[in-house]
Amino acid sequence: MTLRSWQMVTIVPIVWSHHDTASSIASTDALLCEFPDMLLRSGFSRLAACRLSTTAANTAHVPKVCIVGSGPAGFYAAQQIIKSHETAEVDIYEKLPVPFGLVRFGVAPDHPEVKNCINTFTQTASKNRVTFLGNVDIGSDVTFSQLRQAYHAIILAYGNAKDRTMNIPGEELSGVLSARQFVGWYNGLPEDADLNVNLDVESVAIIGQGNVALDVARILLTPMDMLRKTDIPESVLDCLDKSRVKYVTLIGRRGPQNVAFTIKELREMVNLPGCRPSLIAGDYQHLRDLVPSLPRPRKRLLELLAKTALDTPAPALASAWAAAQKEWRLRFLLSPVEVLAGTDGQTVSGLKLAHNRLQGDGENQRAVQTEETETLECGLVLRSIGYKGIPIDPSLPFDQRTGTIANDNGRVKGENGIYVSGWIGTGPVGVILSTMTSGFTSGKMLVADLNSGQIDGTSARGGKEEILEGLTKKGLRPVTFTDWNRLDKFEVEAGTKLGKPREKVTNVQKMLDITYD
Ligand SMILES: Cc1cc2nc3c(=O)[nH]c(=O)nc-3n(C[C@H](O)[C@H](O)[C@H](O)COP(=O)(O)OP(=O)(O)OC[C@H]3O[C@@H](n4cnc5c(N)ncnc54)[C@H](O)[C@@H]3O)c2cc1C
Repeated sequence: MTLRSWQMVTIVPIVWSHHDTASSIASTDALLCEFPDMLLRSGFSRLAACRLSTTAANTAHVPKVCIVGSGPAGFYAAQQIIKSHETAEVDIYEKLPVPFGLVRFGVAPDHPEVKNCINTFTQTASKNRVTFLGNVDIGSDVTFSQLRQAYHAIILAYGNAKDRTMNIPGEELSGVLSARQFVGWYNGLPEDADLNVNLDVESVAIIGQGNVALDVARILLTPMDMLRKTDIPESVLDCLDKSRVKYVTLIGRRGPQNVAFTIKELREMVNLPGCRPSLIAGDYQHLRDLVPSLPRPRKRLLELLAKTALDTPAPALASAWAAAQKEWRLRFLLSPVEVLAGTDGQTVSGLKLAHNRLQGDGENQRAVQTEETETLECGLVLRSIGYKGIPIDPSLPFDQRTGTIANDNGRVKGENGIYVSGWIGTGPVGVILSTMTSGFTSGKMLVADLNSGQIDGTSARGGKEEILEGLTKKGLRPVTFTDWNRLDKFEVEAGTKLGKPREKVTNVQKMLDITYD
C-alpha cells in the first residue's frame, strides 16, 4: 500500500463559526414528553429517543443528509456540513457499534497521539444536528435505495473493507494472513478478534514495504514491556508474549528508492530496542548518488536508509544492535510466486520469490520478473499489498480494478446529490490529513449544491425516522453516541485497572450489552 506521509498527527480542533440554533435546543426540552413510541420500542433510552425525535419532528423541511461510515472521512465531512450550512441535519451510519473507523482499528496502538483527532470527531458528534447511528450496516440492514428515498443527499465514506491478494499457489495456507487482518487482530476489530495467528515461528515474511508493513513488523518485534502500555487487547498480548519470532523480512518488488514507508516509521525501526537492522550494503550504494535530486521528504528518508545500511552507527547504537536478539530485514527486487507448505500440508515452510529487474525510468519504472528464484524460509507470511473497497449497491458506479466508487473529485459519476469521501473514493492512498481534505471537499461541494438548488433540500424527506422505522420492524436497534460514550468509559476503566489506556471490547454482542445497559 502506498500510504504516503503517515506522520500527520494532531488536528487542531475547529473553532466553530456558528452555533446550533437556540430554538432547536429549546424544542428538545419541549418534546421531552413526546417520544415516538417507535423509538422507545426499538430500545432507545429516553434521552436518545428524545434527541432523535426532536430533530425529526421540527425539521421536516430542512436538508437531510446522511453519511455512510464514521471514520475520518465521515466525521470530517459532517463537520464541514454543519459548519457551512445553517440548518442541514447530518446522520452518520456506521456498521460497527463503535465509531472512528481505522483511527480505532488501523492506526498502530503504539502511536496513540495520532488518535487525537477523535476529540474533534467527538465534538462534531455532540452537535445537535449530528446523529450517530452505529450498528447499522448499509447495504444489508438498510439498502442504499432506502437511503436515497429518505435523504436529500448522501456521502459515502465507508473506507476499504477488503484487501488485495497475491493470487499465487499456497496463498490459502493457514500461515498466510493479510496485514489488514493482522492489524485488525492487534487492534481489537471484532471480525479479526479470533484470528488464528501462529507466532510459534522464528521467521516472518511481510510482502510490501509501506507503512502498514512497517507497523506490523514493529508490533511483531517490539519488547513486551512497551506493548503492555498500549491498548492491544490482553488476549493478543498473551499471544505476542509467547511469540518466538526473531526475524522479520519485508519484501519489495522494486528497489530501495521505491520504498513506500515514511521517515518516522523507519526511524522507529532503526531505534527499536532489542532489535537490529540487517541490510545488504550493496542494495544501497547507489542511493547516495540519487538523493541530491530528490524532493525533501524523500531525500531525508533515503538518506536515513543509506546511513543505516552503509555507515558505522554511533557507539551506543552499535552496542544496542550487537546485543539485539531480533532482526528486521529489507529485501528488494523480489516478487512472491509460491507459498510453500510444511510437511503437514497446512502450515507454511517458506516463500518462493522470483528475482525482478527494473524496466523504464523514474515514476514509470516497472519490476519485471526473471526466471531466477530463491526461497526464503519462514513460518508466517503477511500480505501487505493494499486495502481495497467493495461495492455496497449495484446501482453505484464501482471500479473493480481500483476498488473505488467512480467519482469526479468527490462527486459520484452520473449521480445527483451523492458524494464520496476518503478511501472509498481515493483508494488506500492517504493519511488522516489527506482524508480530512477529502471530507471537507465533499462536505463543501454538497453544501454548494444545496445552496445553488442543484439538490432540492426543501422537499419532505423521512430522514432517520423513516430509516429507524424500517430497522425497528427488523428488530434492529442502532447505537447512539451516548451509548458509545458508555462503552468508551467502560473500556477506559477496564484499561486503567491494567495500566493501559483502554481494554477494548472485541465482541459485537458484548459491545451491545454494555452500550444498551
Ligand atoms: C494499518 C493502518 C495504519 C494507519 N496509520 C495511520 C497513521 O498513523 N497516521 C495517519 O495519518 N493515517 C494512518 N492511516 C490512514 C488512515 O487510517 C486513513 O487515512 C483513514 O482512516 C481513511 O478514512 P476513511 O474514513 O476513508 O476510512 P475508515 O477509517 O476505514 O472508515 C470507514 C468506516 O466506514 C464503516 N463502514 C464500512 N462499511 C460500512 C457499511 N456498509 N455501512 C456502514 N458503515 C460502514 C467502517 O466500519 C469504518 O468505520 C492508517 C491506515 C491503516 C490501514
